[in-house]
Amino acid sequence: MATGTLRIDLDAVLANWRALDAKSGRDTETGAVVKADSYGLGAARVARMLARAGVRKFFVAATEEGAMLRQSLGEGPEIFVFSGHMAGDTEMIGDLGLTPMLNSIEQVTRHFEALPGTPFGIQLDTGMNRLGLEMPEWQAIGEIVLNAGPKLVMSHLACADEPDHPMNAAQLAEFHRMTDGISAPRSLAATGGILLGPEYHFDVTRPGVGLYGGAPFTNATPVVRLSLPVVQLREVEAGEIVGYSCGWQAETPTRIATIAAGYADGLTRAFSNKAMVYANGVPCPIRGRVSMDLITVDVSHLSEVPAALDILCPEQGVDDLASVAGTIGYEILTSLGHRYRRHYAGGTGA
Ligand SMILES: *Cc1c(COP(=O)(O)O)cnc(C)c1O
Repeated sequence: MATGTLRIDLDAVLANWRALDAKSGRDTETGAVVKADSYGLGAARVARMLARAGVRKFFVAATEEGAMLRQSLGEGPEIFVFSGHMAGDTEMIGDLGLTPMLNSIEQVTRHFEALPGTPFGIQLDTGMNRLGLEMPEWQAIGEIVLNAGPKLVMSHLACADEPDHPMNAAQLAEFHRMTDGISAPRSLAATGGILLGPEYHFDVTRPGVGLYGGAPFTNATPVVRLSLPVVQLREVEAGEIVGYSCGWQAETPTRIATIAAGYADGLTRAFSNKAMVYANGVPCPIRGRVSMDLITVDVSHLSEVPAALDILCPEQGVDDLASVAGTIGYEILTSLGHRYRRHYAGGTGA
């Protein structure tokens, strides 16, 4: 077998959902964000498992993702679409019972004209300046919109992964200013917002990355293990080079393992000569450039080289690996390639 194996622990996803759910009170409903194919881990499997465990509100980025998710979940759970009601989405939204989070007066008009009386939510901008109605627009159409009975009124925090950032309190105050007194359910918190405390929880929370074991939920149960098979072992003499552009040169005799994954599998070239892989928990440095399909690793210190080396494992989680490349765990997860054999464990207890 010449492709890596991505093991996804559905019990760990459920444990993380329950841990995040337990942080808010009984009056707050905890949803699940499964956009980008559940951050690369497989929305069909993850969402079905969470639905069996009782999750009733799912969130995706695009209507197309919502359509796929509806096939997996069947009727029942609500599917909210963050990008709202875009031109061309009407049929999918109507036929599949999706709930667009309307972001602009244009989207509100489109939805009310094309699908009157069908579910929708509203997204408000409280300062992030990415999606949602701003205060003057909300003042102009809020009454009409609220009379039509939105399923959810939400906003999104720009800096929730930094608990001391003044932006959090500023957005919280703006959200209160825009929504206090309405009867529709309100939602402000993603993973970071849940961890900020109860005043951020409102009626519905929207955790994503924390379910998948990523920061800012640093107490998460690890969800993924990525094991890459060793294709070949070789002895490299002092002075010899390894890989493209002679990216590394041996100073002493070195044993190099060539493992089967590369940047085409989401393992960025930024790991070249920097990141570690793990042999049953023992770190082994990457030597030379990461190429499209292969990575070369120094295994000189191992008495025995296992059949596969791990690049994601309990010793090196998604955020550890991300920091090597100057990115975030979200990007590591959503970059995971399509060549891996995905193996799901657990999820039966849900
Ligand atoms: C992605 C996203 C979430 C989930 O965020 P996490 O940080 O992964 O928990 C929630 N709400 C919105 C609007 C999002 O775009």
